[in-house]
Amino acid sequence: MLRRRDFLKRTAATGIAAAISRPGLAAPQTAGVHGPRAGIAQTVLGPLDVSKLGYTLPHEHIGDGPFFLGKWSKGGRAAFTAEAVEKLKQMRAAGIDTIVDLTPYDVGRDIRFLEEVSHKSGLHMIAATGQRFFPPQYPGVSMPSRTVEGLAEFFIKEIEQGIDGTDIKAGVIKIGVISGQPTELEATGLRAAVRASKATGLPIRIHTDAAKRAGVSDAVILEEADMDPSRVSFDHSDGIDDMDYFLGLVRRGYCLGMDHVHRGTAANASPSFERRAECIKLLAEAGFAGKIFLSQDAEFGGSLLAEDAKDFRSKLDPADGMLFTARKLIPHLKQIGVSDGDIHTMTVENPRSFFAISQHR
Ligand SMILES: [Zn+2]
Repeated sequence: MLRRRDFLKRTAATGIAAAISRPGLAAPQTAGVHGPRAGIAQTVLGPLDVSKLGYTLPHEHIGDGPFFLGKWSKGGRAAFTAEAVEKLKQMRAAGIDTIVDLTPYDVGRDIRFLEEVSHKSGLHMIAATGQRFFPPQYPGVSMPSRTVEGLAEFFIKEIEQGIDGTDIKAGVIKIGVISGQPTELEATGLRAAVRASKATGLPIRIHTDAAKRAGVSDAVILEEADMDPSRVSFDHSDGIDDMDYFLGLVRRGYCLGMDHVHRGTAANASPSFERRAECIKLLAEAGFAGKIFLSQDAEFGGSLLAEDAKDFRSKLDPADGMLFTARKLIPHLKQIGVSDGDIHTMTVENPRSFFAISQHR
């Protein structure tokens, strides 16, 4: 509890504490299937009542936008940013309210860019702390520390004090586990994420290789560290179509990010788009809509490039960009019988619970 009081004291100036204790805001409830129902999320423009998050894309990449500037032929950063804002305004007009940017520092996150495009587009954005790649699988990748304590200290600094010398704070912890079975350093990253989550109340999203059933081996480490499963999402889970894998994890309380569904539209893709959608339907029918997130894992900057300037990664992203879920996946889910209520749970209610800063820690 001391830890939490410290946090509230230190962040009082930013308004988090004031917002949490604001009269009229429903008292935080104990996390159930849907987690806390009320609360505050940390966006790049400051604390936000989670009721305002609305339709949320929980796993995208906006913050690495300036990385693509070198391949962009239509002018400098100001013109690039203006075009980015235009495109984001189109998403807002299409009904998207919030984008969660899961681009930590080691993947080219530019926090001022994120702040600027959020401010100018009117879209809420949540920035991530964490670690995407780990040496030695990715030579040349740096880590602020290779110990649980040191890495957690870095994450907590980005959550409580701010990112890259600014006062813009992270609102989610992202860890990339490329392996099926976490390497020693990936396990260190997971343990540090748990430590930072417990200290700050932020949730954790994990890049997983679902085809290797990575969520199962990640869960061993998370449970050793006594992590609340409802505060963890295994992203890219639709890379497999094994219902036993999904049900095993959601029954233990974990969330699943279904954010590569568009990759199923490629020729000979396995699982196919239809099968990935069917798995989402089966999970909803089994009563687990409250554990599912829908997103695209798209690299927004790539969508601003001319076709011949796009690389492999940009071409993986759907032609509809971050509107794929709204334009293609959700209509398809409705067509195969997923209810409007379950769609609302996946796109609005789950993010509202998940990104609320937990007050039970
Ligand atoms: Zn991603």
